[in-house]
Amino acid sequence: MSNILSLSAPLAPGATIGILGGGQLGRMLALAAARLGFKTHIYSDESESCAFLVTSSATRGGYHDQDKLKEFAAACDVVTFEFENVPDATAEFLATHVPVAPDARALKVAQDRLLEKNFIAELGIATAPFRAVASEEDIFGAFRALSAPAVLKTRRLGYDGKGQQIVKSADEAVLAFSALGAVPCILEQFVDFAFEASIVAARARDGTFAAYDPPKNEHESHILRRSTVPAPLSSERTSHAVAIALKIAEALDYVGVLGVELFVTHAGEIAVNEIAPRVHNSGHWTIEACAVSQFEQHVRAIAGWPLGDPVRHSDAVMENIIGKEVERWSGYAGRGGGLHIYGKRVARPGRKMGHITSLSPRPSV
Ligand code: AMP
Repeated sequence: MSNILSLSAPLAPGATIGILGGGQLGRMLALAAARLGFKTHIYSDESESCAFLVTSSATRGGYHDQDKLKEFAAACDVVTFEFENVPDATAEFLATHVPVAPDARALKVAQDRLLEKNFIAELGIATAPFRAVASEEDIFGAFRALSAPAVLKTRRLGYDGKGQQIVKSADEAVLAFSALGAVPCILEQFVDFAFEASIVAARARDGTFAAYDPPKNEHESHILRRSTVPAPLSSERTSHAVAIALKIAEALDYVGVLGVELFVTHAGEIAVNEIAPRVHNSGHWTIEACAVSQFEQHVRAIAGWPLGDPVRHSDAVMENIIGKEVERWSGYAGRGGGLHIYGKRVARPGRKMGHITSLSPRPSV
């Protein structure tokens, strides 16, 4: 779009950073922005957004409410987002009123698993083999092209394991397709990975790129339980993983922090699972283990500032506090480590309520 606005100069402290989405990522972005002297304005469609509790200004409004979005844009110097299911039309609309970073293209790619997988594969980066499934008839051909087991995933609106099912036969895939609402899907080869890892990296407005060390990520019921840094990856594999993230960021002309979720096979091969065009849960340990956290790094990038050094001074283990586990807050408080409680009122099962990061000295190399 030709009328997209961009920053002409780095934003000075005192400027206002708009954030679409009011969850814990928005909350931690707002806290990091405040440390650099910025104000924040959170825009969320939920009345009880935990980011509302720590921001200079807040708007509750729908993501399609153009009047409210226009007012929000007028109150901000730059706008970003903290979740990838912001409608790309919303980002495009805002971009005609205020600079938006990352731009809507990153959202578009990340919101649709088929676009995303095609985009990654076209860059020559490995993914799990996949086939598009638009209708029940597609399932049999797709299943023949892959080998069992496979994972059927909705193209859109899946996260934390929602909108996906492991299937061992085409018949099972037919049932899963209907259980998922017969919406457009992709069928993916199940990857028998040794472990999962991720690259959390930032690209600045001038193209500078900085990646944090990759953590190893363990999931329980598809929800991230623990990230451990360093991951058991050789320096060669780590460089390869960072090169993948750089290629993706450059291809998207990306500005801000992005997460690239990876499968590492038993043979040490790396395949991309998905891209998160935002700060990432597997990067929370950077708050304690690095001078500049992923949240500050994102703020720096979108504000046109130089990136901070992503080097870590410690080894770290970040554990999520999920659902009712938060009721044991006093136990976590007594454990040491950096404790974060997000201030969400209702501890629904599977809901991320906080996290805790433990550090240990980084062995000298
Ligand atoms: P996703 O929503 O695609 O990030 O998937 C959530 C989690 O499901 C991943 O972090 C993996 O643990 C698991 N998963 C997703 N896709 C696959 C796959 N093709 N093979 C094996 N595990 C998968």
